[in-house]
Amino acid sequence: MPQPQTPICPKCGYDQSGEIATWSTQCPTTGTCPECGYTFAWADVTNPSRIQLPWYVEHAKSKRHLLKRTLPTLWILLFPNRYFRRLTMETPRSIKSYLLWLTLLMLILHILSTAALIAANFGYHYQSNASIAQRMPAVPSAEQQILATWITDFSSINYWKPIIGEALLFPIIQRSAFEQGISQVMAGTATACLGISIMWLILYSAFPVTRKRTKLRMAHITRAMIVAGFLPMLTFEIGRILEAIIFADNFLKPTFFFASSIIYSTIFVLILWMIIWTQWFWIAATRIGWQIKAKWWELVLLTIASFLGMPIAGLIMTAFKPIRIAIEHFAIWIGI
Ligand SMILES: [Zn+2]
Repeated sequence: MPQPQTPICPKCGYDQSGEIATWSTQCPTTGTCPECGYTFAWADVTNPSRIQLPWYVEHAKSKRHLLKRTLPTLWILLFPNRYFRRLTMETPRSIKSYLLWLTLLMLILHILSTAALIAANFGYHYQSNASIAQRMPAVPSAEQQILATWITDFSSINYWKPIIGEALLFPIIQRSAFEQGISQVMAGTATACLGISIMWLILYSAFPVTRKRTKLRMAHITRAMIVAGFLPMLTFEIGRILEAIIFADNFLKPTFFFASSIIYSTIFVLILWMIIWTQWFWIAATRIGWQIKAKWWELVLLTIASFLGMPIAGLIMTAFKPIRIAIEHFAIWIGI
């Protein structure tokens, strides 16, 4: 239901009621904000809810819709230019839906990556059992008894409990040979990207001159920070899955078709892409989304300055340390 609200300029938030009051004989279809000069359709301003993007998670009506819109949303977000051409300043936003979607997606990916890690661990022990069974008949009975103690008992809860616990809490908990550092590198890069986005927010808001000149509502900048800042976190879960694949690749060689080198190249491309994407997102937001006529060298300077967000990323990681220690203690306490 469209709610009656004060019509404001989508870009700067200037109250357009005065403008509407001057209409006497006819209603124009488009208007120009007297404050910032932004041109818009009056229908979008007086009734913003008429803009509904059928592919976008922020416009989803239910959790089921959220998940159904995952692939189209990711596909359009992949190229920030495309995203900002579709998501104009008039488009109503729901950051709550966006964050709910991201949380649900992380949860689903976490379950999938946990399953992948458990499968890799189980596969390793299964193969080891098979090779012991093969050697068994050829050795003397004294040695057979030793070999028998190396056989993993899959029917025991003592086998599954630490395996499942480790897979759930990995990489904070590492008991098996998983550790390649992939998910940690992914988490580190994602945090660096968050730091860069926070820096863009600071650059946009801390200097009143910039904001006064661009006449941009703070809400636009905050939303961009949330959308760009948290999306790279998904790669942490992808890192966990890659870690399981590499582990499996190590013991399944040469029967497994995945070469570790392909995975390492994928990781390299992902890391590079995350940083390029974050910068691209902010440049696309400035030029396409918010239609700010910035000179190219201004954008270059902003991009360079945004890397000052790295220390912020360092602070976030330091703040995470007590949580990490708490999880380690918790794991020991429950016997993982
Ligand atoms: Zn305006």
